[in-house]
Amino acid sequence: MTNTQHQPLDVHVTPACDALESSRWMLERLSTAVWIFDIDAASVVWANASALDIWAADTLEELRARPMKPDMSPAVARRLKQYQTDFIERDATFTEMWTLYPRGVPRPLRVRFSGIRLSDGRMAMLCEGSDETGQQPEAIRSADALLHTQLMISLHDLEGCTLYCNPSARASFEGNDHLASRFVAKDDFRRLMEAIRATGEISLIAEVYTSKGVRWHELTARSCHDPASGRPSVLVSETDVSGLKEAEALAHMRANHDPLTGLPNRLAMPALFERLLRQSERTGARIGVLFIDLDQFKVINDTLGHLQGDAVLMDVARRLFELRGKDDAVIRLGGDEFLFLATEEKGDEGRIEALAVRMLQRLAVPVQAERRKLTVTPSVGIARFPEHGTDVQILMQRADLAMYEAKADGRNQYRIYDDGMRNRREDEVEMLADLREALRRGQIEAHYQPRVSPAKRRIVSAEALARWVHPERGMVSPAVFIPLAEKAGLINQIGACMLEQAIRQQSEWAAKGFDIAVSVNVSIRQLCEVDFAGMVRRLLSFYDCDPAMLELELTETLLLESNPTVHDNLEQVRALGIRIAIDDFGTGYSNLARLNEMAVDCIKIDRSLVSGLPRNEEIVRLVIAMCKFMQVTIVAEGIETQCAADWAHANGCHELQGYLYSRPLPAAGLEAMLLEEQAVPQRLPETVC
Ligand code: C2E
Ligand code: MG
Ligand code: MG
Repeated sequence: MTNTQHQPLDVHVTPACDALESSRWMLERLSTAVWIFDIDAASVVWANASALDIWAADTLEELRARPMKPDMSPAVARRLKQYQTDFIERDATFTEMWTLYPRGVPRPLRVRFSGIRLSDGRMAMLCEGSDETGQQPEAIRSADALLHTQLMISLHDLEGCTLYCNPSARASFEGNDHLASRFVAKDDFRRLMEAIRATGEISLIAEVYTSKGVRWHELTARSCHDPASGRPSVLVSETDVSGLKEAEALAHMRANHDPLTGLPNRLAMPALFERLLRQSERTGARIGVLFIDLDQFKVINDTLGHLQGDAVLMDVARRLFELRGKDDAVIRLGGDEFLFLATEEKGDEGRIEALAVRMLQRLAVPVQAERRKLTVTPSVGIARFPEHGTDVQILMQRADLAMYEAKADGRNQYRIYDDGMRNRREDEVEMLADLREALRRGQIEAHYQPRVSPAKRRIVSAEALARWVHPERGMVSPAVFIPLAEKAGLINQIGACMLEQAIRQQSEWAAKGFDIAVSVNVSIRQLCEVDFAGMVRRLLSFYDCDPAMLELELTETLLLESNPTVHDNLEQVRALGIRIAIDDFGTGYSNLARLNEMAVDCIKIDRSLVSGLPRNEEIVRLVIAMCKFMQVTIVAEGIETQCAADWAHANGCHELQGYLYSRPLPAAGLEAMLLEEQAVPQRLPETVC
């Protein structure tokens, strides 16, 4: 005992302990260490002799003056604050193993903590400690670890009533004394108890109510015995994994969403379909898979740039999203392709089709791009569960087929899948195989359509047009097989074969004394081939053909092309002296500035403009004026009547082409025309001017 054992109790500091005044003598003599700790000030305010001994203090004054804060870890400080709240709110008491470090020496104690009010009304802590120095170090350490660990450890009886919580668990579940009421999903508690009964342990991640709100905890529960009563119980240890869960949710969300539009992406599609499928099992609803592809979106991207393209896609995504019913889903498959999954409940028949109609209407409203308004139309294909398939991949393929038909039928419309579409697609696949065979056998033949100069009143040129005489199908139109060849990557072969025939033919005609040029249609894909110009040069020299007698017909999309190989090829062929014509002018998006830069030699006004004469006289006149300004040869295509020929000539077209003069003919047929022309000059119909 120290010499302070008869120190009087400081009644001024602890007037609430007045009742103890008469028992002071007894308190002083207790072998149990008793002291009062001011939690707010982090200092001892009173201690009996045993406590002074434990604290290694000579006098109470010295202990009261001892600063405790600097040695206190933030975790301990937080815990003491929590105790203070528990004393105030529920008059709690705790018995715990604590290790004090008076003057740096560890003193393990079993301490009972309870609340006691100071004279100024603040809640302090009455501590009663019994020395545990004699305990096994292992026991002391484990008790201390349990006290200080972040891990939340709690013990419950088999009904879930809480028997014990370590400080960390207590801080998290304050006032909650039943395991079941911690879980957000009550099923988790049921699952946990079932597993305890069945196998004695379980690990799970669950949402729980805590003092910090709803959090994700990873729990491990084991069956054990309550050391106090010996009754079976459940020991639960848990950690907060909310941070991990959030990171996981974010990663999942990123993987399943399209960053541009924020819509779910292709990866998310099966789960979304599955959800609708479950609903359909309950209610018997049909599911519509609507495949949406924007028409000619590439042109927008190419003319206005990718930023504008992105803005359009975002706008389209928003409009589609707005059409969504509560169970529907909108997905961006990639590029300009979207998928709309919609339900059609019994009694709401026709909803899927009505949605497609509304899609066309909603997207028909122009989109505000940087400086202009754009209209982006969609082509929509529909397949329905269960009639068109039960597997989502099959349904998607069929919706895609239907969309393809909507495009083939002129775009900006919707089509519902039918088996005929599959047949047509199969037909196409078959035709493609035949086309490959025809190319191998040299069955793609050039026919020639004359281009007439009304001023010279003779045929000045001939356009080579591809012809395929199929053994069963008969004559297949290039309007059918050229787009097919473009898609299948066969166009370069067809193009090379046509160039070879036309150049050889021109050379033959020249050798026979006919003054006639040839023009050949060239797909943009051919110009993407690095060796295109080289191939043309070799053909010209092989057949000894004058480059000035060859013209390449290119479509307006060329003007949008930014591929440098295309431009290299164009420069090289022009350098050879070959002429460049823009075909079907007036049908696409014309970029007049580019047209001027490209230095083309000839413009062929599309027959859709020519056939509209004289109704659309004004516009054709405007086109002609522009061509004149560029000083190019002007060709009017699709001249079918004398009247159209007269108008075109009178308005400055240099060459006329159309059924009025001749349909495309085999080379021999055109040669016959040339011969006839030689024999009877000026046989061609004379124009009014
Ligand atoms: P195009 O280059 O504009 O060829 C003119 C088309 O208009 C030809 O159709 C021709 O037969 C048709 N036509 C000419 N005059 C008249 C007329 O007075 N009235 C009507 N209604 N039509 C007339 P065709 O031969 O069916 O060719 C269609 C398209 O296929 C061509 O349009 C061209 O874009 C493409 N094509 C044809 N051969 C080739 C080729 O060798 N290579 C490439 N890349 N495309 C080709
Ligand atoms: Mg042409
Ligand atoms: Mg044309």
